[in-house]
Amino acid sequence: MKKIYGGVETGGTWCVCALGSGPDHLLAYEQFPTTSPPETLERIASFFAAHPAPTAIGIGSFGPVDAEPSSPTWGHVTTTPKPGWRRTAVATVLRDRIGVPVAFDTDVNAAALGEHRWGAGRGVESLCYLTVGTGIGAGLVIGGRPLRGLVHPEVGHLRIPHDPRQDPFRGSCPVHGDCWEGLASGTALGERWEMSPAELPGEHRAWRLEAEYLALGILSIVCVASPHRVIVGGGVMERPALLPMVRRGLRELVAGYLDTPLLGDRIDSYLVAPGLGDRAGVLGAIALAELEARAA
Ligand code: ZN
Repeated sequence: MKKIYGGVETGGTWCVCALGSGPDHLLAYEQFPTTSPPETLERIASFFAAHPAPTAIGIGSFGPVDAEPSSPTWGHVTTTPKPGWRRTAVATVLRDRIGVPVAFDTDVNAAALGEHRWGAGRGVESLCYLTVGTGIGAGLVIGGRPLRGLVHPEVGHLRIPHDPRQDPFRGSCPVHGDCWEGLASGTALGERWEMSPAELPGEHRAWRLEAEYLALGILSIVCVASPHRVIVGGGVMERPALLPMVRRGLRELVAGYLDTPLLGDRIDSYLVAPGLGDRAGVLGAIALAELEARAA
């Protein structure tokens, strides 16, 4: 019999719970708004209480988080600006309530793992999963495991060239102003152009600038981590014309220096859309739980 795992994705806006062993075998699935920590954690615990206990649970959380297993604050959301969630214990509370082993990582690392296991990143040795939505975040999977490092990667706060003559917008990041996320997230688009990304007309010059910024940030990721594939999703990428523009921009920036067809003629199969859509995070959390159970 297949082992059953639990997956939890706690996003800034929505929380998703699932029980199963993969995208084709989900026994239960529920989505609800992320409210206060006690209320949200209670709802997650109730979801699992209503079903047979899973072998382990994986949690992919919005961040920043403490995912270092030896840390006394492992499983906490740390310096988030989200009201009520600063320095909040998540993984330990759920582990104690549900009574099964719990794995904990960032939401984007979970999504990266999900895409690697079942989505657009199947079969590659390493990948980057990038999401461009309210913020910008990325998870990296290397050798089948999410890369955590000292804290965890926070690519949204990379610095990219910003020419104020071309783009006088000061940036929307509350910490850095014009970091990558401050210039190119959905929040930045909304503040700069005074309309949401969904309302911006296709011919608006916003999109050329957006593609340029996204290509610059992705170039940094490619130069540092050299992932075998980059998967890019999130609300801003729902504009179908944007991905081909970013591919063109990245190819121009690489300028043939990195000698692989995947960054040249074949860039369409290098920089790709997600395969699991908005289920990547919760499915990745199931994959995290599976890794945890195997390691135990
Ligand atoms: Zn920033």
